[in-house]
Amino acid sequence: MMRRIPLVPAALTLAAIFVLSTGPARADDGLLHISSIDVEGGQATLIVTPSGQSMLVDTGWPDANGRDAERIATAAQDAGIRHIDFLLITHYHMDHVGGVTELAKRLPIGTFIDHGPDAETDAQAKKLYAAYESLASTGKRLTVKPGDVIPLHGVKVEILTSNGEHIQSLLPGAGRTNPACADVKPLGADPSENARSLGFLLTYGKFRFLDLGDLTWDKELELMCPANRIGRVDVYLVSHHGMDISNSPALVRAVQPRVAIMNNGERKGGSPKAWDVIEKSPALEDFWQLHFSRAGGTEHNVADKFIANPEGPDSGYSIDVAARSDGSFSVTNTRTGVTRRYAAR
Ligand SMILES: [Zn+2]
Repeated sequence: MMRRIPLVPAALTLAAIFVLSTGPARADDGLLHISSIDVEGGQATLIVTPSGQSMLVDTGWPDANGRDAERIATAAQDAGIRHIDFLLITHYHMDHVGGVTELAKRLPIGTFIDHGPDAETDAQAKKLYAAYESLASTGKRLTVKPGDVIPLHGVKVEILTSNGEHIQSLLPGAGRTNPACADVKPLGADPSENARSLGFLLTYGKFRFLDLGDLTWDKELELMCPANRIGRVDVYLVSHHGMDISNSPALVRAVQPRVAIMNNGERKGGSPKAWDVIEKSPALEDFWQLHFSRAGGTEHNVADKFIANPEGPDSGYSIDVAARSDGSFSVTNTRTGVTRRYAAR
């Protein structure tokens, strides 16, 4: 692929420069890669470490002829990955664990990571969990709790929330009281699997990426109030596809992401109220969306160049992050091929 020397329009700052993409991510290139794969309002996040290890967070939906598993397998191939070393399931809802059976037909999976048994017991939940459990029993299964660290090399993946519990200690850089808690009231306990989401902080040198799955509002408050246990992050994977029963100001304002990536679908997530909280977050430089959000309308969607899949039929474009240990990183919209770079702080 032809590389081009980036041109720097005068109107752009040095901290964020648009350049043309230089081709797909490759494993073992010394960068940390995080690809938000489009699974139409579910989650599938492929992480490839600088040494080429892989961790997939969730598997998207079932059905549609294995659409989501196929998209994940394609993303893995593009990244030079032949097997998934770790599959982390945030929780057992269909848009997260639903694609696991189809995925296992396409890629070998090493270790399965989860929060323990499914808390939901209706017929659909039982079926989804049984399918997962039978696959996990063929490999290695790791049930984790807050404070546990996933054994990846060169990066640190620390579990912050699991099965309704959260870390008690403060992470480095955290610990200050969280003023954003003052105006935020609980919404009421959430008995669903969402509240049991496995959430983690991925650290590569100075770079920090936060993914809390579909963790809901009251659990965010338990984690983030009265002290901010996490500190600031560089990239925030917007919780719960951008629904407003997650993404409380107590969380978003405290972690102060430079970049937010929302894995919404056209008709799922992207709630105006949550969108506002993220958009107004104090240190936010850019907000990226996997989809145009119908709920957001003209007022609550980012500019087209920050949307991987605009309104209408889509081809499952992803939003890809590549990070260095000095804290600098880039974000690529794979539809437009445009990359935006963020200098180290
Ligand atoms: Zn979900």
